[in-house]
Amino acid sequence: MLTYYMTSLGLIPYFTSRAVVPLFATAMIARLGPGFGPVADVLGVRLLASMPSWATSNTALLVLGFLAAVEVGAAKMPEVREILALTDTQLKAVAAFLFCFTMVRGNPADLVGHIQQVGLTTDLASGNSFAYVWSFVIGSVVWFGAAARNVVFNFLIDLDPDDDLGLQSLLSWLEDAIGFFGVLFAIIFPILALALAAMTLTCLWLIKRLIRRREEHAKIPCPDCSTPNAPCGPRCPGCQRFREQIMAVGVLGVIKATPAPDLSTHRLALLSRKRCAFCGDRFTDRRLDQTCPSCDTEAFESAQALETYLQHLRASLPKTLAILTCLSFIPLVGLIPGVVYYRLSLISSLRGYLPRTTGFIGRWLVRILNIGLIALQPIPLLGTLTLPLMCIVNFLIYQTLIKRQAQAAWARAPVLA
Ligand SMILES: [Zn+2]
Ligand SMILES: [Zn+2]
Repeated sequence: MLTYYMTSLGLIPYFTSRAVVPLFATAMIARLGPGFGPVADVLGVRLLASMPSWATSNTALLVLGFLAAVEVGAAKMPEVREILALTDTQLKAVAAFLFCFTMVRGNPADLVGHIQQVGLTTDLASGNSFAYVWSFVIGSVVWFGAAARNVVFNFLIDLDPDDDLGLQSLLSWLEDAIGFFGVLFAIIFPILALALAAMTLTCLWLIKRLIRRREEHAKIPCPDCSTPNAPCGPRCPGCQRFREQIMAVGVLGVIKATPAPDLSTHRLALLSRKRCAFCGDRFTDRRLDQTCPSCDTEAFESAQALETYLQHLRASLPKTLAILTCLSFIPLVGLIPGVVYYRLSLISSLRGYLPRTTGFIGRWLVRILNIGLIALQPIPLLGTLTLPLMCIVNFLIYQTLIKRQAQAAWARAPVLA
């Protein structure tokens, strides 16, 4: 029985990252482990082998395998990833619970029947062993762990909504691998896994606290009306007072420690980092016709304002292209920093104002064109044009999408036209 408690505790981190993938991994181990010499005698494998036979049947493996593939695929699409983030804590908790519950031969059908009859009452576990109650404990811990994980992920999404850095995709693949192979590790080395689980949960909790604290400390109270002011904001959203020390903004909208340049350039820089040109707060929507959550200022009050903004972006194009040409001289390796660079410095300023759906079509169009251009890379001389061409094509496509979006936005609100 000790193996059961240890294994279930050790598996917590894997369930906080994925719901179905660890279930699929455990079912696979339960099915194949006992027949595989080197691990057949490991306590955890013997424990899994005692799982009810329906849980390791061909049908169960097929269904779990299919659902795991869906889970992995869904996490690769930013559009789905954001929606998933709303429900996946519950899903992961239920998956972890079901795993423990099945391990102690609890019958999910009985449980569903009980809930249907009397609802979620406290006598749910009466007459059952402690091991049975334990599955609820594991489910709850996974719930909290998954919630903490989401705080960290949402922070990354807020910082880089379009994953221009590619960090979210990288983490997503890492989590898939960990969700599957971690389970194997936890079953073969339960004590090590237990220590790792404790460490992971503590780290997640600490990072979560750090992020919350950072959010609180980022703003400065206005000396006149004590409304929290973004350090990069030209004016106070509460009393409209002009602020004295205005800080510059850098990539991903991060506030720099250096003061901002002249005000009109700074206002355009704020907009290009998806921040309000009046108070410096972040815009939350993916639309052109939105107002600031702090001061109600419109992002772009007219078609003219948008044109000035696009002109500002076009003006920065030569500098970006020069840097990209330099990077082009490094074959293949220069490609990755080059793509990240033009996305962060230019494309994100357009893409951030496009709804997910428009961005989605645009993204695919851009991807196909990019692949074509990357094919040019190995050709001498022509290869050096790859990055600048990719940047120009990307910029033109997103600029067209923005203009189309603008027509739709201002058609909806004729007052602004
Ligand atoms: Zn104020
Ligand atoms: Zn504002």
